[in-house]
Amino acid sequence: MSSPTVSYIPAPKATNPAPRCSGGTHPNTPAGIALYNDQISKWHTDNGTRGPNETRPYPLSPGSSPVASDECWKCGRTGHVGPSCTQTSAPGLEVRWRMIATSIKKGALATAPQVNLVGEERQWTSKEEYDASVIAAYIADQQGKEDGPSA
Ligand SMILES: [Zn+2]
Repeated sequence: MSSPTVSYIPAPKATNPAPRCSGGTHPNTPAGIALYNDQISKWHTDNGTRGPNETRPYPLSPGSSPVASDECWKCGRTGHVGPSCTQTSAPGLEVRWRMIATSIKKGALATAPQVNLVGEERQWTSKEEYDASVIAAYIADQQGKEDGPSA
């Protein structure tokens, strides 16, 4: 008896949100700050009360580091982490976006699946849900093998 044919497609490449947003950091000069303030106004006009995410990256403070660059989320500078930060805090939404971007980057590096079943369009809302789903699929697969014809 032959095994059923199962087709696999490669998983989408893990995306690092940093490159898409790194161009948004303006120099910490009067001109850079003016451009930044324009970006902030536009972001709030475009997004209203919706929070930042990878498709609506929040503008970064002039002179700060790109997101997901191991920077301090509070002030956006590298070289230290939040608890030891003595700098002025960036806007709350920028802090939130830095946290989100870092978690996206870490998640993409740590949990990128190697293969996806064709037709799999499920979206997971959390890593826990994703892990539970993978485990359930693995158990189902193992049970299927036990029930099938043995060599
Ligand atoms: Zn800091």
